[in-house]
Order: sequence, then structure tokens, then C-alpha cells
Amino acid sequence: MFYDDAEKWSRQEIEKAQVQRLRRTLARAAGSRFYGDLFRAKAIDPDTIHTLDDVRRIPFTTKADLRAAYPDGLLAMPVKDMVRMHVSSGTTGAPTVIYHTKNDLSWWASLMARCMYMVGIRPTDVFQNMSGYGLFTGGLGIHYGAERLGCLTIPAGAGNSMRQIKLITDFHVTAVHIIPSYAMHLANVVREMGMDPKDLPIRFALVGAEPYTEESRRRLEALYDMKVYNSYGLSEMNGPGVAFECPEQHGMHLWEDAYIAEIVDPETGDPVPDGELGELVMTTLGREGMPIIRYRTRDLTRFLPGPCPCGRVHRRIDRIAGRCDDMIIIKGVNIYPMQVEAILMAMPEVGQNYLIELDRVGDMDQIKVKVELKDEYFVEDMRALTALQKRITARLRDEILVTPKVELVEAKSLPRAEGKAKRVVDNRGAMS
Ligand code: ADP
Ligand code: ZN
Repeated sequence: MFYDDAEKWSRQEIEKAQVQRLRRTLARAAGSRFYGDLFRAKAIDPDTIHTLDDVRRIPFTTKADLRAAYPDGLLAMPVKDMVRMHVSSGTTGAPTVIYHTKNDLSWWASLMARCMYMVGIRPTDVFQNMSGYGLFTGGLGIHYGAERLGCLTIPAGAGNSMRQIKLITDFHVTAVHIIPSYAMHLANVVREMGMDPKDLPIRFALVGAEPYTEESRRRLEALYDMKVYNSYGLSEMNGPGVAFECPEQHGMHLWEDAYIAEIVDPETGDPVPDGELGELVMTTLGREGMPIIRYRTRDLTRFLPGPCPCGRVHRRIDRIAGRCDDMIIIKGVNIYPMQVEAILMAMPEVGQNYLIELDRVGDMDQIKVKVELKDEYFVEDMRALTALQKRITARLRDEILVTPKVELVEAKSLPRAEGKAKRVVDNRGAMS
């Protein structure tokens, strides 16, 4: 059932280890330029941190801090001790660099292996990693975890769908890692090749790296006849392996022996009550080369209250609702792309891709949603199309409280990114 002991820890055991590891982390961090300066400036003595609540005396570390300390201001050990570096995808601006020692990589691989084992993947499974390798952590991060677990691991990388499908069938791949937007696309390609995605041997899919909804998960599970498990991580906290769904598929266990997690109000930085949405803040407890303390992830989620039937005590976070930066404000209303996705992916006529476009017409902001239809619904009957368009518009309006312009387009006609999907194009800046 369990890959390692820490997975079985009680709340007491977790907290005891967290305090010990926090103190060790702070002592290490004090050796870095960034935290050394910060602790001096704020008169923080790591030795005076004795409880988990004390962690709140330490200021947050932000992405801007990491950028300002570029490239090595957070290193707590000499560069010669580092064996790898990764760079975040840069979805929201300049990328940040994270260094790892040998021990750090081993810690990360074991967390990743734990996640995979938890959902039922075993050394006898053949695992194909379909995310980009290179600087993106979804490549090597997942790869080393799968090898640690003992799976035959195929480093397929991103793109080249025909080859992906050939590898899956030729080597009888039973477990994959894939980002949601690509998984949707790949299903179309499988169909084009005259096969049904259900006929592929895949049983488990680790799906993450970008937000997606419960509706999208169910859709992928049905399309491929496989189980989809949500996988969350970010480069600053290693990459994948931070939080992961268990077989219950209800929230992701965040590994508290490895991280301290807080959820705060993004405006005030104050903790929000359990169960309420806020920004995830995290502290590394296992990293020696480049510890990061109270990192503002900018990801919005909530702690799910109550125990998990799987028996793991590590707290669960809800599916990521989006990034703080993803919020669209239109006519004074706040909208998240995932609200749009949830509506679209629940409609059987809608295909696997969509795009939100923001424009300014006169002084009015306008939200347009381009929606790919499945081939069988992209018909010549104007009346049918108009009725469908109206139905989609009405459902979206009920959810987002403004009326979008809905444009129905043919399957596979919208642009598709090689890596993380770009869901929103904002044309308003150029005109204002
Ligand atoms: P970047 O922040 O530049 O995209 P990363 O490659 O480190 O860099 O990606 C980490 C981010 O990806 C997270 O902060 C989060 O916003 C997003 N992410 C990762 N996994 C998930 C997931 N399962 N659900 C939603 N978002 C995710
Ligand atoms: Zn569980």
C-alpha cells in the first residue's frame, strides 16, 4: 500500500519532523546571500524558531525575490556541490533558476516514486513520459521518479504524436505522464490514425503542470478508458511530486514531511481558515542546496478538511483553481479560465480545445470564447449551430455572470502550444 514510512505518519509525527526539518532548513538558508541578508535585516535568529507557528515570523519569499537573486543568490552551498539546475517555464514572466545537489535529486525522486506507487503504479508497469525534457521539471523530475520506482521508463518527450502512439502500442505502455491539453489533442490524433484511444494499453495517467477541471479529468478518463490522477508541483519546490492524488481522487495529498504548506489571503498574506480558497505558500524541508522558505506560489487552492479514506494524514489540497495572475476582470466581474473550462468540458458537443479572447470595443471590455466542436457536431445546419451557440452562451453567462461572445470553430483549428496551454489572449492593452 505504502511506498515509504513517512507516508504513514500520524499528525504528531509529521509535526515533530516538520519542526526539526524547519530548523535545519533555516540554519542552512542562513548561509545563503539572500536569506543571510534577510535574517539580518529583520533580526531573525533561526535558533529562536521552535514551533510551526514561529514560521510566520519569517517574511515571504516571492518570485520577484528569486528573480532579483538571479542566478545564485539563494544557494546555501557552493556551486561545486550542485549537480543539476532547472528553470521554471516562465509562464508569467522571467524564469527562475533552481539548483539541486545529489541529495536533493534523490529526495525529489523518492517523493515522485511515492506519488506513483500511491496510485497503483508498480515496477512491472511500462511508463512513458510525454512532457518536455530539458529545463522543464516535468521531464527529468518525473523520469527519475519512475526509474526510482523501477518502471521501464520511456523518455518520449513532448510532441510528435504519431511516434508517441507507436511507442505506447509497441512497448505496451501502461502508465503515462502527460499535460491535460496535450492529452486532449492526442486523443484526436489517435482517432485520425483509425484507432480508438480506449484500445491503447494505458491504465494510469499522471496529469498536471497546468490547471484543468474535474470535467476535463472525467472526459480524459472516458476517452482513454484510464484513470487520471492530478499531479501538482512547481520548479521552485522541485517540480512534480509536491502534491498528488491518491486512489480516492479527491484532493491531492501534499507531502508534509517534505514541505510546510500554508494557505493565505493573497491580498493580506494572513492565513485563511481551512476550507477557504487562498494562495498556497510553501517551505522546502528536504532541500540542502537551495532551501526556499515561505514561497508565494501564486497558485490558488484550499485545504480539504477531514481525513482521507486512504489513511494518509498528509493534508489534501483541492484542484488548483488557477493562478492569482490568471484572474480576468471584465465589466467589474472576476473570472477564472477554469470556470469557462468547467462549463465547456461538460458539454458533449464541445471538442478538446477552447480559447478566451479579451477585446476592448469602444470603452467596453468584451470576452469572446472560441470553442472547438467535435466533428460530428460541426454541421452545415445553421439552425442547429445557432441553437448550440446560444446554449453555450447561456451556460457560460450563468457561470461567469457576463455574456460572452461565443464563436464555434472546427476541431483542431485553434492554436495549440507545445507545452502549457495558453487559454487567454488579452488584446485590450494594445488599444487602451
Ligand atoms: P511556471 O510557473 O513558469 O509555469 P513551472 O514549470 O514550475 O513554471 O510550473 C509550475 C506551475 O504550474 C504551478 O505553479 C502551477 O501554476 C502550474 N501547475 C502545475 N501542476 C498543476 C496542476 N496539477 N494543476 C494546476 N496547475 C498546475
Ligand atoms: Zn488519500
